[in-house]
Amino acid sequence: MLLRHTPSEVKEREALVVNPAKTCQPIGAMYAALGIHGCLPHSHGSQGCCAYHRSTLTRHYKEPIMASTSSFTEGASVFGGQANLVEAINNIFTIYNPDVIAVHTTCLSETIGDDVPQIVSKAKDDGKIPDGKYVIHTSTPSYVGSHVTGFANMTKSMVNYFSESSGTEKDQLNIIPGWVEPSDMREIKRMTGMMGIKTVLFPDTSDVLDTPQTGKHHLFPKGGVTIPELRSTGDSRATIALGQFASGPAAEALDAKCKVPCQVLDLPIGLMATDRFVDALRKTAGVSVPDAITDERGRLVDLITDMHQYFYRKRVALFGDPDQLIAMTEFLVSLDMLPVHIVTGTPGQRFEQRIREILKHDVPQVNVRAAGDSFLLHQWIKSEPVDLLIGNTYGKYIARDEDIPFVRFGFPILDRVGHSLFPSVGYVGAMRLIEKFLYAFQDRQDRDALEEKFELVM
Ligand code: SF4
Repeated sequence: MLLRHTPSEVKEREALVVNPAKTCQPIGAMYAALGIHGCLPHSHGSQGCCAYHRSTLTRHYKEPIMASTSSFTEGASVFGGQANLVEAINNIFTIYNPDVIAVHTTCLSETIGDDVPQIVSKAKDDGKIPDGKYVIHTSTPSYVGSHVTGFANMTKSMVNYFSESSGTEKDQLNIIPGWVEPSDMREIKRMTGMMGIKTVLFPDTSDVLDTPQTGKHHLFPKGGVTIPELRSTGDSRATIALGQFASGPAAEALDAKCKVPCQVLDLPIGLMATDRFVDALRKTAGVSVPDAITDERGRLVDLITDMHQYFYRKRVALFGDPDQLIAMTEFLVSLDMLPVHIVTGTPGQRFEQRIREILKHDVPQVNVRAAGDSFLLHQWIKSEPVDLLIGNTYGKYIARDEDIPFVRFGFPILDRVGHSLFPSVGYVGAMRLIEKFLYAFQDRQDRDALEEKFELVM
């Protein structure tokens, strides 16, 4: 899908979205559900929706995504999906025996108006849910929100269904990592482990979507937050939620339900956001920061100092998920780059306010849009060119059309590997991002340099 015919003149559109910078809600709900140990995500709708959600996740994570579907046909579309879901619950527990079935709705079942809690309760009354097994649900109509909303809704449902307060506080912190990669979740656990902090991370897709090749397939891999751990979140000392859009609703629900105080921070992407994360961990858990983490920070600062010349005043366009864009924008500014065009497909006025706040001194005239599309981003780039494009795989069409260096970041990344294996969060993740930015600029410089300016050492 080449985009050579995108016009540069921007005309406000209300009724048409072209190349949306988002995917649909159930994809996020499915991803979050995979972060519960022994969970089978279940799509209450047609097979086509489920096939799309599974294939998008499979292509991004390079792992088979297990999920079931209510398999709506014309009958269910007219008369409702109760019979399909009750039968599905029975089949799933009989054949696959998960600990939890996490049901999310689709556009179709939402439009019909299926009452999923009532259907689950009927399945329970009919003896279709074995003792010690669970069916949770979340509502994910895809004509509102985005995959980020779906992730947030399913994570909040984990709190609604499982979190309990026994009245006795546990010496542990909840961390809601937001929509990040399995590698990022592993990195967050590594950092908290280095600080000696006991945590419950939920959801947790490490060791679920980055499993080693052993020659054996496990329908339910060893990773994921367990049900006892989820129950205990109501007794934790505090919650640190990373990313307002993906993690804020669950953290606030846990505070309201079990009185666990929460702080909602930015995703720890880049130097300053990681500093705030480490400081929040330090204060909340009452520990000190070990030298090993301070050294990681020092190596990042050294790299920034050494390579600053390549970043200075470089103009960047970026698109993707709001939590990731907020953190990335701040990181780019800290490198003295200029994020000039920013688009997310996820709706939310707070996004635009936050971006303008971050950029008020460096790029006061920033083009920023929530619930925007890639077509608009392309128009902005045509009018005011940039030196670098950052976004998911769909950005390759704009990058090719405009001949712009391109760094893949966000979801989905369908045509590269590494994102699920190497972190972007923390000081180590920031170094990896810097490496990617540098290679994009230096490869371009090598490619375009005149013969007399072609340097061995740049
Ligand atoms: S119909 Fe709705 S839920 Fe299904 S794939 Fe399309 S947007 Fe997603």
